[in-house]
Amino acid sequence: MFATLSDRLSDTFKNLRGKGRLSEADIDATAREIRLALLEADVALPVVKQFVASVKERARGSEVSGALNPAQQVIKIVNEELVGILGGETRRLRFAKQPPTVIMLAGLQGAGKTTLAAKLALWLKGQGTSPMLVAADLQRPNAVKQLQVNGERAGVTVFAPEPGNGVGDPVAVARRAIEEAKRTLHDVVIVDTAGRLGIDAELMQQAADIRDAVQPDEVLFVVDAMIGQDAVNTAQAFLDGVGYDAVVLTKLDGDARGGAALSIASMTGKPVMFASNGEKLTDFDLFHPDRMASRILDMGDLLTLIEQAEKTFDADQAAKAAAKLQGQGGEFTLDDFLEQMQQVRKMGSLTKMLGMLPGMGQFREQLENFDEREIDRIQAIIQSMTPAERANPKMIDGSRRSRIAKGSGRAVSDVNQLVDRFFEARKMMQQMARGGAPAMPGMPGV
Ligand code: GDP
Repeated sequence: MFATLSDRLSDTFKNLRGKGRLSEADIDATAREIRLALLEADVALPVVKQFVASVKERARGSEVSGALNPAQQVIKIVNEELVGILGGETRRLRFAKQPPTVIMLAGLQGAGKTTLAAKLALWLKGQGTSPMLVAADLQRPNAVKQLQVNGERAGVTVFAPEPGNGVGDPVAVARRAIEEAKRTLHDVVIVDTAGRLGIDAELMQQAADIRDAVQPDEVLFVVDAMIGQDAVNTAQAFLDGVGYDAVVLTKLDGDARGGAALSIASMTGKPVMFASNGEKLTDFDLFHPDRMASRILDMGDLLTLIEQAEKTFDADQAAKAAAKLQGQGGEFTLDDFLEQMQQVRKMGSLTKMLGMLPGMGQFREQLENFDEREIDRIQAIIQSMTPAERANPKMIDGSRRSRIAKGSGRAVSDVNQLVDRFFEARKMMQQMARGGAPAMPGMPGV
């Protein structure tokens, strides 16, 4: 998502490079480009108008700074305005003083509500709470079953009406669920409600009835970011019909233009709290407006990357590897190499991770073509080596190489390439670990 917008904005900024100061004509041209880029990305017209007016005014105004050149200044302004339309500060979940905290989900059918309920439950579990999912979507024949399956995958309790009793009263189910949660000491209750294909009065009424019955601490409106301008209309209809506290965007991994994501907070006045970007239960996180803006401007999203690394990285193992690279605790071996690679793998899709690095926008095509299975191939080769070979790769001679190739089902040239690459990587890492990296001009102590 946002690929075209990213590219268009980056072209716009390129045109400003090398300019000593911005003329009125430069500002007008830039504003026009930004306007087109946003409209093309399907951002709602009122949001575009306000955005462009604000950028123009600020670019023209007093914010001339000695530290930034004009192009950088415009990027800074656009970044701040993007953060603004995305809702400003990260909006965090409010927990009830008296448990259970009740979270109610509302949205159209197909928005990804049921999937999201399980993702949210898993995420909350990771935050140290004990969530319970409630199947109050009794409209869609399969919804209860689907929630049960997803709940099981997330390892959380699901409260559902008895099978065969699926045409019951969702309000009563929701009410009973809260009682059950209190009794069983679940401190968060997530109520999944029924969606329809379109907006209708009965659906709104049912959601409003459930809301009145369970008195949620947070009502979250779930919307598919791929449905474009319709997302804003639906959001408005739910705001009028049910009301909600925050928005959850799903399917941000899609290749739609992303305008919905950019318009919804401004148009509804409600912040985006969570974003969902894939079909796996872990493809889900808090929505951070500043990080999203950085990503759109290809300034990278290092914070998310670092957080992911912290969550999955085994600090002991990493420290051991670092010590080895500095020549302590034995030599860095192919086993360490493999372990490091598996650690990186645990952090998630390599392509997604690399995409979060600053400046990767220009490599988008290569990234999309990167074959994640490459790591599996390397792993197969290393695993076909004997422990002695892994510990002391220098002993891997010609005949050993052909045996390893046979064992892993790869060509001898693949084995050669891997061994060569390992030695090169080890040399480079050792140099870096000893502080022997090329000195960076202007950085004291380097
Ligand atoms: P509900 O009708 O609102 O409960 O929607 P579901 O949870 O059944 O989701 C509808 C479809 O969207 C399912 O096929 C999900 O796997 C898919 N889906 C949900 N969230 C995401 C997401 O973030 N990314 C992608 N690509 N698909 C998703």
